Amino acid sequence: MKTVFTKFSKAVPDSFGLSFSESAGSACDHCRVLKSCYAAKMETRYKSLGAKLKEHEAIGPEAVLEKAGRQMPDLGRLRWARLAVDGSLPRRKDLGPAWAGFAARLRKLVAQATKLGAAWHIPVESMSKARLYRQALKGLGVVVRRTSQAESLAQVIKESDPRAWVVSTVELNGQPITKPKLKENIKAAQSAADEIRQAGQTAVVCPAVAGDSKCGKCTACSSAAVDVILYPLHS
Ligand code: SF4
Repeated sequence: MKTVFTKFSKAVPDSFGLSFSESAGSACDHCRVLKSCYAAKMETRYKSLGAKLKEHEAIGPEAVLEKAGRQMPDLGRLRWARLAVDGSLPRRKDLGPAWAGFAARLRKLVAQATKLGAAWHIPVESMSKARLYRQALKGLGVVVRRTSQAESLAQVIKESDPRAWVVSTVELNGQPITKPKLKENIKAAQSAADEIRQAGQTAVVCPAVAGDSKCGKCTACSSAAVDVILYPLHS
């Protein structure tokens, strides 16, 4: 049977990704990195990934979850699970009356993977989705991490929920990030992390981008103890 899951290079092997839509598409709420979206570039480069995401959009989020629930036991023990590696989670209005069924299936799936040993990364790109999914997954011990759309570090520091922020020293206009630019972005992310800590919050610069760790070995995104994850913009 064709798997509904995706693997991603940033993660340990005993992991899975589950995506519902294409990146930089209609499922995404306002996102400041839209033009520089790394995942969208991957989907263009890897045709089979792009085709799988198109298929997921066509069958709809509930059907994707239903397939995932059936296929997950075959994955065995897990260390890491991530929703929306590509694209984004659906809005409530996207599902209309089907929202309740989707949310119930999602709770079941999250509990199922947790039982198999997985820590979860559940990213959303807007405050309205953060509220929606925090409510939907309440009590399951998972963190819904919002990507802050703040334009400045000062604004990120003013916020208080578990969030992530993309750090870039260049304009977010889709230009390729060369190695020297990546180095600059990593340096800027480290300096932003220092400022956040000085303001009394916890911060981690993603070691899958800035170092050589992988998701699952690093579990910072899944931890409620980490206020801000900083992602240096990369290509
Ligand atoms: S901070 Fe850790 S868990 Fe989050 S994306 Fe980076 S490596 Fe993965």
